Amino acid sequence: MTNRDQGLARVKALRNILTLEIDNGYQDKAVSGGLDGFLKTLLKESNSHPAIKALFEHGLLSVQYSELTVGKRKIWHEEIQRYLGNLAAAKSKVKAAVRKIETQSEPNPKVSLDDAITVLKSVNRPNASRLAKIGINCIRDLIYLFPNRHLDYTARRTISQLIPGDEQTIVATIWEAREVRLGRNGRMRATEAVVGDETGNIRVVWFGQPWLAVSLKRAMTYASETANVPAQVVLSGKVKIFNGRQQLDSPEWEILDDPEAADLLHTGRLVPIYPSTDGIPARTMRRMVREALDAIASAEGLLIDDPLPVSLLEELEFPDLPWAIAQSHFPESLESKEQARRRLAFDELLILQLALASKRTASTDQPGIKLPSFPPLVTNFIGSLPFELTEGQKQALNIGMKEISIAAKPMTRLLQGDVGSGKTVVALALLLSAVADGYQGAMMAPTEVLAEQHYFNLRRLLAEVASPIENPDWFSVQLGGHDNPIVIALLTGSTKVAARREIHRMLSDGILNVLVGTHALIQKDVEIPNLAIAVVDEQHRFGVMQRAALKSKGTMPHLLLMSATPIPRTLSATVYGDLDVSTMQELPKGRKQIRTRIVPSSRSEDAENFLREQVDLGRQCFVVCPLIEESEAVMAKAATVEYERLCTTTLADVRVGLLHGQMGMVEKQKIMDEFRDGKTDILVATSVIEVGIDVPNATVMMILGADRFGLAQLHQLRGRVGRGEHQSYCFLLSETLSDDSRKRLEVLVRTNDGFEIAEADLSLRGPGDFFGTRQSGLPTLRMASLQDRELLSASKEQASNLFSNSRQLELLPKLKESVSRYMNTVAEENA
Ligand code: ADP
Ligand code: MG
Repeated sequence: MTNRDQGLARVKALRNILTLEIDNGYQDKAVSGGLDGFLKTLLKESNSHPAIKALFEHGLLSVQYSELTVGKRKIWHEEIQRYLGNLAAAKSKVKAAVRKIETQSEPNPKVSLDDAITVLKSVNRPNASRLAKIGINCIRDLIYLFPNRHLDYTARRTISQLIPGDEQTIVATIWEAREVRLGRNGRMRATEAVVGDETGNIRVVWFGQPWLAVSLKRAMTYASETANVPAQVVLSGKVKIFNGRQQLDSPEWEILDDPEAADLLHTGRLVPIYPSTDGIPARTMRRMVREALDAIASAEGLLIDDPLPVSLLEELEFPDLPWAIAQSHFPESLESKEQARRRLAFDELLILQLALASKRTASTDQPGIKLPSFPPLVTNFIGSLPFELTEGQKQALNIGMKEISIAAKPMTRLLQGDVGSGKTVVALALLLSAVADGYQGAMMAPTEVLAEQHYFNLRRLLAEVASPIENPDWFSVQLGGHDNPIVIALLTGSTKVAARREIHRMLSDGILNVLVGTHALIQKDVEIPNLAIAVVDEQHRFGVMQRAALKSKGTMPHLLLMSATPIPRTLSATVYGDLDVSTMQELPKGRKQIRTRIVPSSRSEDAENFLREQVDLGRQCFVVCPLIEESEAVMAKAATVEYERLCTTTLADVRVGLLHGQMGMVEKQKIMDEFRDGKTDILVATSVIEVGIDVPNATVMMILGADRFGLAQLHQLRGRVGRGEHQSYCFLLSETLSDDSRKRLEVLVRTNDGFEIAEADLSLRGPGDFFGTRQSGLPTLRMASLQDRELLSASKEQASNLFSNSRQLELLPKLKESVSRYMNTVAEENA
């Protein structure tokens, strides 16, 4: 053995002995005869190794260990570790210490996917209830809460390599961390730190996060106490230049306990950003998801059953489900993230297809209710209209009448027609067909305002001269071709209890012929015993299962779904399976192309002056106030403010009316009637006027805050004008226009075609947005984008394979389970 080898061996032995001694609690039992003997040997060989020499030079070898108290022994160990100096060894001790702490703390009992999230240590009660609000209750819910996106913090740099402006990650030693006050008058509390690596130091500032200083300091103390090394931190974020020097601004941070472990959560990787959950910090979200994943992890991967058979995975070259779920949260790379997304998207689409298919077979087994085709009641009604039906209306009506009179199976027809194309007339004629034969009909709309509008429109269509409303909840009208008066009622969430009770009674007595309403129609307590036709307006705003709920109010009624937001053809087949579709392309005669302009708010006065000119010409105008939030109350207030402004400034001498959703129904109707009768010139309103209002003399639709509306809704609003002989205009006002919203609004300037607008909306926003979340009835399409054409067709093909061979589906119980779980969730959401 050379001197050098001997020295190394001695150092090694010393390390082992010291570790043992620490583990034994400083009892001086690590070597027989005590440490002092060994130290004496080292003293003699102090030149054999630089580390031993250092110990010697600092007097650490000349202590009488056996004489020291335990406290002193600890200090001696800390000192000696420092001179033994090997950082890696020291770090591995930190690692061991951390592991020890982890194993000492309660081990997670094996959890199952159905366990409540509260079994997780990182989920405290307040956070559990916050998560419950967005429907996250069990572990499965949590691991299926996929991130919206990931921050790419994979670019690892040294401090000298940092480039201002890029997202990048450094691993550095924390030299200093303290709370500071910055900004004017030192009002902003912040944490400032200096960190360094072998290439240099850099200042780090976290604005508004003074508490971070405490965490960093604690980490520094912990690292030096347990391992006698400085604490290391991983920082991910952007570098900027401040006072001529580089500075990291509020980076994501993570104390590095274990440099070898690849389980960084917040830094140095693709870091998940979850859908914002009110009150739960992003870091906590990540920790909770990480813990959930760990809790169901085994040596083979996550303990999640893959519903897809291996053969199918191989055929389609998809990864297995546990891998895909893990990667969708904490992906190794962008490629694996996309691979994971494709797999999960396929599952969603497949399950959707299977759910739709099973509903379809469930509903097509029996024949539908046979109804008369064009009974006298209907022909009389059509004859009484002050206009002639368009070709599109005639065709849609002919097909519908044929279907309900043959009734080999219940009609399931989607009636697509642009705003103002006259869908209501078609629906009403079909409803009357049921009424003629003693059956009942129902018409469901997504909002109260829309339901009210339908109710009033039916009244107007049936009794051309609107009789005064003596009762806001129902009316009756005597029509030629029918013996009894026809009773039509309105049922919404705000229907009073007494009226509701009366409606229920009239429904079961069969006196009530047509019920118009909102979701209120599909509540459990509503029974429509003789329901023969159910109409769903703006059907894209309902879920698949909500439509099913309406259907279930009777025994296999016919279903007419209406939409002015046409689902682009590419999608309709997929989303609606094999619905039959009627499309009304043309608008009633005499409608003019509307001129649409985007108006920056600096020019809003010009627009207002234009309104006044139109009023001087005898025309009328709408002013629609911005969509502030989903609260009618807030919007009503904004509309009132705008109304008062216009009344006292630009349009002080013009007759202005105000309409919003907070008004009572009778009042609303009065205001609309006044506008229709020309008693007011300008109607300031919230988006309640989106539908139903029909005033041919109105020529300007001015929409404030236009960028806040969806394209489909803007198109609907615009459809309120251009209904008469006069040239009409639509002004889209907006305060701040990003490039994106300008692009969106320009679609409206370019075209009046609802189909084109829907297609453009889809490609600009992506289908997730297009369908909305809760409104879509496709609540689990989190990964799939309906632009995944190839996945769509693969899922369709597989679904029809599986389904046509129903035994095959039986053989895949896990898949069946997923399908029924999906259907239950949707049903629950719609309850
Ligand atoms: P939408 O298809 O947007 O629901 P509506 O059914 O509300 O359209 O009809 C828009 C307006 O056009 C209504 O006032 C309706 O009375 C009127 N209308 C319907 N059909 C015709 C027609 N063939 N000719 C003229 N006006 C019509
Ligand atoms: Mg309509």
